[in-house]
Amino acid sequence: MMNDPEMPEDDRVHYAGEEIVEPVQRWTEAEKLALLDWHPMFTGRCPNCEVTIPFGERSLWKCDHCGWKDASDC
Ligand SMILES: [Zn+2]
Repeated sequence: MMNDPEMPEDDRVHYAGEEIVEPVQRWTEAEKLALLDWHPMFTGRCPNCEVTIPFGERSLWKCDHCGWKDASDC
């Protein structure tokens, strides 16, 4: 999945606006932005050792290299 460099910001702001009116809000805006920065779902890399994590099992993110895994599963 490639990010289109021409329209990342607008899409993000619009999405955040829709999130605010949702009664169940899991992430604050800051948390979402932070998540985009480090989560392997978005970066494709382990946040701990930065080895590439392939897209495999859905909603189960773990690193075979250092043993890191995503504990924020719902
Ligand atoms: Zn790792």
